[in-house]
Amino acid sequence: MPAHAHGPGFEQVLLQTWEQLHAAAADARAVGLLQAVWPQPEVDAWSTASLGTRDAALFCLQSALFGPELHTLTQCPACGETLESAFDCAQFGGGEASVPVPAALALREQDWEIEFRLPSSNDVMALREAAVDPALAVAALLRRCVLRVRQGEREASADELPTALVAQLEVRMAEHDPLADLRLTLTCPACATAWAAAFDIGGYLWESLDDWAQDLLSEVHQLARAYGWREHDILALTPVRRRFYLDLVQP
Ligand SMILES: [Zn+2]
Repeated sequence: MPAHAHGPGFEQVLLQTWEQLHAAAADARAVGLLQAVWPQPEVDAWSTASLGTRDAALFCLQSALFGPELHTLTQCPACGETLESAFDCAQFGGGEASVPVPAALALREQDWEIEFRLPSSNDVMALREAAVDPALAVAALLRRCVLRVRQGEREASADELPTALVAQLEVRMAEHDPLADLRLTLTCPACATAWAAAFDIGGYLWESLDDWAQDLLSEVHQLARAYGWREHDILALTPVRRRFYLDLVQP
């Protein structure tokens, strides 16, 4: 697997991160993984990055560690046919190993003036921790992301925004952060139904990492049993040497 190309030191960083984040929730895993591989000067940079910025970086990481191809299995909503599709990480923007400084954005409509920022992993984690009712999640997210509201000369709060303006704000957020709610366009080969399926790169990357870690630990297990070597020493071997010894003990 391509992570081998990064050498044993990098493997241990990945393995440690996998272990530390094993029990964490999805968003904490995504942020923790990025911080471990691409540490930022500001400790909370990945958790305050917009969801789309974070996910672009996750696509980039998936590609660097496990190759650019993504394989999905989906069921056609019309006829139930199982659909196998392949996508390329490069389709979803390059992604950067660093976080751009998040900018405050503005929306002006009639006499309303709204300053807002894009939702981040921190926001999503906060809503989960507060066990916010999914029906109220959008309103709660807006309250966190709206920085300032003015109506004419008056300071107002996010709760006062008219429904139409809230909807417009959601659209504006999605426009500024298109990867935050990524949809793959799929067409069923059996019945030609086309639909847009959500795709979660964080979950996909975690599964890839999980498979990799289990394979690596199984290699450690086989070598430890065959030679009596310690885990630390086996992990310190280059992947090429480990493969060589494994081939000897697996006739
Ligand atoms: Zn179908």
